Parts: sequence; structure tokens; C-alpha cells
Amino acid sequence: MRTPFVAGNWKMNKTIEGARGLVRELLPGLMPVAGVEKVLCPPFTSLMTISDLLKGSDIGLGAQDMHWKEAGAYTGEVSPEMVKECCRYVIIGHSERRAYFGETDEHVNLKVKAALAVGLTPIVCVGETLEENESGRTREVVEHQVAQGLAGLTALDVARLVIAYEPVWAIGTGRAATGEVANQVVAAHIRTPLVNLANEEVAGVVRVLYGGSVTGANATEFFSQPEIDGALVGGASLKPVDFIQIVTAAAA
Ligand code: PEP
Repeated sequence: MRTPFVAGNWKMNKTIEGARGLVRELLPGLMPVAGVEKVLCPPFTSLMTISDLLKGSDIGLGAQDMHWKEAGAYTGEVSPEMVKECCRYVIIGHSERRAYFGETDEHVNLKVKAALAVGLTPIVCVGETLEENESGRTREVVEHQVAQGLAGLTALDVARLVIAYEPVWAIGTGRAATGEVANQVVAAHIRTPLVNLANEEVAGVVRVLYGGSVTGANATEFFSQPEIDGALVGGASLKPVDFIQIVTAAAA
């Protein structure tokens, strides 16, 4: 049995005051939902504030990125240990980092290893672009990202990951994949390669999420798929009613 997992990626939205307001709206709806690992990923500037607000709740906190180095002259960056001060999770390899900030599979690999080394749970994002999808390269791209991003990990390391299949063409577009197609990609191009990277038992326990225009209205379509264990939610995580609906759907 894999515990369902839903994370909200707020991206570059919300000041500290705005973040505080959103959490206050989310808490009453999220707190009573049992049986789902719930995670909020606000911007770095709000992490400490939100960490205080979540104390005593079963809602986890995650960062949206981090550097892989321990410390040093890396202006503007945040280290794994700094993230660990208030977070249990960190998103790694989001397609926006790959597309706008030149993040490569090699960077993803360094970050995953660094996150695991300090005890963070990495939420590792993979997914193909529209062009790659339309030219029939989904398998090649996703399997490559999984293999390169997780290269050199032990089976025990792999078991500690959460992986998000996020087709780039579905992110923020309102054009979600179908549950069936997402399930098929997760089964064939993520879970099956995990058998080779780790082993069958580990491939069976790793939570794999779908991300890309998930809403309160379509969440059940994804959560009813056997290989999909939850969602990484962008836009809808900023809308309390929608996000609570998604988390509630994951519990069901
Ligand atoms: C995301 O940012 O990871 C995401 C899935 O965004 P959205 O839900 O807005 O498509």
C-alpha cells in the first residue's frame, strides 16, 4: 500500500502576508483529511513563517528547489542544510527550472543526492515537452530523465523518493493528460525502469504523482489510476477550495 501524496507548488506567488492568509484558509479544510501525505511548497521567503503556522498539524513543508553544495560562494542559492532547517521535502528538477534556468539531468542528480544526504525527501519531476510528445519521444525522454536523474542511487535511496510525472505541455495550460495516458507513462516509463535501477520491491513502494493542470474537478480521474499515487499541483494549490478538494479526492 502506498500512502497517497499531494503537494502544492506555489511557484513564485505570495508575499509572506499572502502566504499566511492562504495557509489560514487551507488549514481547516486540510486538517481533517486523514490518510494523505499533504505538503505545501511556498517560496523560500515564506518557509519559516509557514513552518510556524503548520506546527502541530500533519501538513508537511517543502522547498521548490535548492543547490547541491553544502555552503560557499553561490550567490542567491540556498543549501540543503538551510532547506532542512524548516522543510522535510524539496521539489527537484521542475520543468520550469529545466526550461528557464538551464537545469540539466546532471544537476538533478546532484540535488537528489544532496537532498537525501541531509534527510530531505526529494520530489523529483520528469516529463516531456509538447514537441517531444508529438514526435513520439515520450518514452525516450522520460526514461532518460529517470535514469540520469537517479543515477548512482542505492535501492534504499530510491525507496525514499517521490517522483512526479509532469508532461510539460500540461503544466499551467489547462490541458491535463488523461488519467489513462498518465497511468500508462508512469507504469511503463517510470515504474518499470525503477525495477532496473533498484528492484521490484522498491519500484512497488515509490510514490509516483501526476502533475499538470490538476483541479478539484479532474483529480479523481488521476487518483483512480492504479499507478498514480497523488498529484503535484501548481495553479490549483493557490485556490483553497480546489486544493482541499484535490486532497480530499486523494484520501478517497
Ligand atoms: C506544477 O507547477 O508542477 C504544475 C503541475 O502546475 P499546474 O498544476 O498549474 O499545471
